[in-house]
Amino acid sequence: MTAKISVADEAGACYGVNRALDMAREAAQDGVGPIHTLGPLIHNPCVVRELERRGVSVVESASEKPGGTILLRTHGVTPTEERAAHASHDVVLDATCPFVIRAHQAAERLVQKGYTVLVLGEAGHPEVEATLGHAPGAIAVSTPADLDDIALGRKVGVVVQTTQSRHNLRELVSALVGRCEELRVIDTICEATSLRQEAAAKLANDSDIVVVIGGRNSANTTRLAQICSTFCPRTHHIESSSELEGSWFKGAENIGVTAGASTPQSQIDDVIAAIGRLVGTEGVGV
Ligand code: SF4
Repeated sequence: MTAKISVADEAGACYGVNRALDMAREAAQDGVGPIHTLGPLIHNPCVVRELERRGVSVVESASEKPGGTILLRTHGVTPTEERAAHASHDVVLDATCPFVIRAHQAAERLVQKGYTVLVLGEAGHPEVEATLGHAPGAIAVSTPADLDDIALGRKVGVVVQTTQSRHNLRELVSALVGRCEELRVIDTICEATSLRQEAAAKLANDSDIVVVIGGRNSANTTRLAQICSTFCPRTHHIESSSELEGSWFKGAENIGVTAGASTPQSQIDDVIAAIGRLVGTEGVGV
């Protein structure tokens, strides 16, 4: 029996991540002074280590290592963090994904227009924190149950963490109907996220085992793993090929591989090659 390895139709690094990585790699070559990123540039520890080898290191606050060049992470920063970066560094490069900026601006406009603004996402996630920073008074909600603790106004506006699922958005919206007079929803879910989620569900449905590649701290990769496990219980979330175990693939004819939006193609290729060695299959079946 020859196992077939299939990759999801949409998988791996998205526009915003590739843009940020290009900016960091260019800064590593030609940047001014020491190069830092404000928080991890993306949620992928393997890539963060690769950037460190190129001389691009992570600081948790701009004041930690003043001078030189600082990159604002892909997930965005609060206006306070951005001001601090400009005050303490010679060069500030904004690697915030333009789609994340769109969510910041949507939340900001809703606050200005007097809506109670809800940000659907994970409280504490850097993207959600940055969006809250841009929209003073906005509140993070992760499930409809959170609404019980919030005094909603007459007008409620919703924006969404770019990596949330539409299922979660639909649940929140239906819970809000009847709790306010006016409900305005700005769907800021990123297309790259929804396409990867749909492709992952299809892949998992057709697979005996699924390997999901990406940082464990990556919200979108974790969500891909959750989606895959609902269709295929033999789903494994890994950060690199070194975590693969031969026993996972026992009896599997169809092996699915997908990867989060913060996983570069080189990491996907490495994992496919390693699976191929474990199961004695070369390349990817179509
Ligand atoms: S997943 Fe979407 S919002 Fe997030 S970095 Fe990629 S393109 Fe930007």
